[in-house]
Amino acid sequence: MNKEEREERDEWTRMVLSDFGLTEWTVRFRPGMHNEGIVLYDSKEIPITFDVQRPVDYALILHEIAHVLSGKGGHDSIFADKYTMLVRKYMRPKEWGFSGNPGLTTRPKPGQN
Ligand SMILES: [Zn+2]
Repeated sequence: MNKEEREERDEWTRMVLSDFGLTEWTVRFRPGMHNEGIVLYDSKEIPITFDVQRPVDYALILHEIAHVLSGKGGHDSIFADKYTMLVRKYMRPKEWGFSGNPGLTTRPKPGQN
């Protein structure tokens, strides 16, 4: 991903956090070998490591934010509901009429898998 894509990612992430009143939370992106993230509830930080060779992993960002919204229950049903809600809100394909979401390009079209 290039600088423009990283800036777009950062802006998008701030928008999602803001939409849920999570303005005290900080997502810190740093380059690494894999895409992975963790939620630090005490310091309200989400360090996310990303592989610079790959496109921005918007699903991973939403995954970590779903953890913030659902608490420390791990991958339980509350987490699943929050994650599903976030995906529905932010990862709708462009042809369905949602704009301003760069996370859409890799999503299959309806009818595909
Ligand atoms: Zn998780």
